[in-house]
Amino acid sequence: MMKKTLTVLSLSLGLLLPLSTFAKNNVVVVATGGTIAGAGASSTNSATYTAAKVPVDDLLKAVPQIQNLANVTGVQALQVASESITDKELLTIARKVNELVKKPDVNGVVITHGTDTLEETAYFLSLTVHTDKPIVVVGSMRPPSALSADGPLNLYSAVALAAADNAKAKGVFVLMNDDIFAARDVTKTINIHTNGFASQWGALGTLVEGKTYWFRNVAKRFNNASEFNIENIQGDALPLVQIVYGSGNMLPDAYKAYAKAGAKAIIHAGTGNGSVAKNIVPTLNELQKQGVQIIRSSRVPQGFVLRNAEQPDDQYNWVVAHDLNPQKAKLLAALALTKTRDAKEIQRMFWEY
Ligand code: GLU
Repeated sequence: MMKKTLTVLSLSLGLLLPLSTFAKNNVVVVATGGTIAGAGASSTNSATYTAAKVPVDDLLKAVPQIQNLANVTGVQALQVASESITDKELLTIARKVNELVKKPDVNGVVITHGTDTLEETAYFLSLTVHTDKPIVVVGSMRPPSALSADGPLNLYSAVALAAADNAKAKGVFVLMNDDIFAARDVTKTINIHTNGFASQWGALGTLVEGKTYWFRNVAKRFNNASEFNIENIQGDALPLVQIVYGSGNMLPDAYKAYAKAGAKAIIHAGTGNGSVAKNIVPTLNELQKQGVQIIRSSRVPQGFVLRNAEQPDDQYNWVVAHDLNPQKAKLLAALALTKTRDAKEIQRMFWEY
């Protein structure tokens, strides 16, 4: 609207200002750290470096071409390696993004982020920020100081995506290596190469030379269609949820220890179909009766957990995580627990998000 008004105004006044000055969308880059802001000792250190060093203004100055795509400004929200992000930092990012998308003169938001937990932040934003403006989470696998650093092009493409009118109302994206992924199903699959991210259901689209190409949409609820709202979350902590990784020869102690530490839900990252070893079942049933939600996910990176297959979930009052990986199930469980303690209601949320 603003763009059109200004274009008409500049035409009717016969101004000689380039129309592109007015026609560009406004994009804010929220910097949080990670490798994309990292620094290595030499240009050949592509994997040995310190994350979260370069301030946002320098990140933007290093890619001056982004100003051709949008009017880009930067905000330094955090400067951390993303494995150290706690609920406090996650909520700080979500609140900052929420504040920005509410501004009429902001058309899109890019979050630069460490790749370790990038998928978690992206999914959390898709669940909690009510907007149809594009929100793009981007990182890099190599620091800016390395040969063939991937950060500059990733940032360029992320800004192009955040500025794209055709990206509106499609959810929160992860932009890596030219791929446009949906926040809910993207995951880090390689920890050393530039094609570090993938989704078992495929990318939503691709971004080439600053232009979007779309191929599919997300079938689940996100952003404006979400029942969770960042504004309804008080304080700096979410209900405590922890993950226990499944393997052969399991002991029940970890589940009990997490419950004792105050966990309100435990994500069981089970073998195969989120299976639970027979010596673990009594512990999980006992904890469930005490009010700890038991959520079965899988350590297998593809497929989804089938309810009431090998494990009688209805009988035990357990929840299945559907196709969410354990780390995303953890976030949805925490948000679900801000609303209900009812396993059936939590299961509904796992089907819908
Ligand atoms: N572990 C660091 C982080 O997640 C660096 C990894 C990266 O950004 O690629 O912030």
